[in-house]
Amino acid sequence: MVKSMIKTEGIVLKGMKYQETSKILTIYTKGLGKISVMAKGANRPKSTLIANTQPFSYNEFQLTHGRNFYYISQADIIDSFYEIRENMERVSYGFYILELIDKSVPDEEANKKIFLLLEKTLRILAQTQNNYLKLVAAFGLKHISFLGYRPYINGCVVCGNNQGKGFKFSNTEGGIICDNCYTKDYSAKQMDKEVYQAMGDLLYTPLDELDKLDISEDILTKFHQVLEDYILYNIERKDFNSLNFLKLNKANLD
Ligand SMILES: [Zn+2]
Repeated sequence: MVKSMIKTEGIVLKGMKYQETSKILTIYTKGLGKISVMAKGANRPKSTLIANTQPFSYNEFQLTHGRNFYYISQADIIDSFYEIRENMERVSYGFYILELIDKSVPDEEANKKIFLLLEKTLRILAQTQNNYLKLVAAFGLKHISFLGYRPYINGCVVCGNNQGKGFKFSNTEGGIICDNCYTKDYSAKQMDKEVYQAMGDLLYTPLDELDKLDISEDILTKFHQVLEDYILYNIERKDFNSLNFLKLNKANLD
C-alpha cells in the first residue's frame, strides 16, 4: 500500500514519552490544524529528531497518516525559537500560549489565521524583553476572536447603548452590558473604564505595534483576568496549568 505524503508547517505544542524510545506529540499545523503525531525513536539520545520535537519547535513536516496517529517521515526546522527557552519568564508565558492553543482548538481543523497568529506571537515573544503580559493578553484576545468569540465592545451587547456610565463584562452575552441590562447576566463583572479601553486597544492594534500602547501593569493584570475568565467560559475549561504556575512564580517574587 502506498501511503500519501502530507507536507505542512507545524509548531510543536507538547510531547510525551511513548514506550522507551518514542514520543507522541501534539502539533498545531497550518494545513491540518491540531494533530497527534508519533515520532518514532525521537526519545533516543542520538535521535535526529530531538530538536524537531521540542515544544515551540517550528518545522516543515512531511507526514504520513496511520490509523491513530500521523507519523513523521521528515522534519526540517524553520525556527527552534530557542530564545524563548533562555529566559524563565519568557518560557513560562510561552508555555501558556502553547497550552491555550492546545486546549482551545478542535482536533484536525485547519485555521490559517490562528496558525499565523501563533507563529507571529512566538516570533515576537522570542525578542521581547519585558511587558510579556501585554503580548500574551493581545494574543489571547485575538485568538479567541479568530475562534469565533470576538467580544462585542462597541456598546451594550444587549441593547446597543454606548452612553452608559458604567459597564460590566458578560461572559454569557459575549461582551459589555450596560446598567439597564444587568438582569441579562447577574454574574457579569464590573469593568473599569481603563480596562475597557485596554481591551479595544489590544483587539485592534497589530501584534508588532504593541510598543505603541502604554497600558499599566495594573490595568493589564485586571484585563487579563477578565479575558482569562472569558476564554475559559467559551472553551469550557476550569483553568490553565501553565497560568497557575505563572501566578505562583509571581507571588513568590512579590
Ligand atoms: Zn444595555
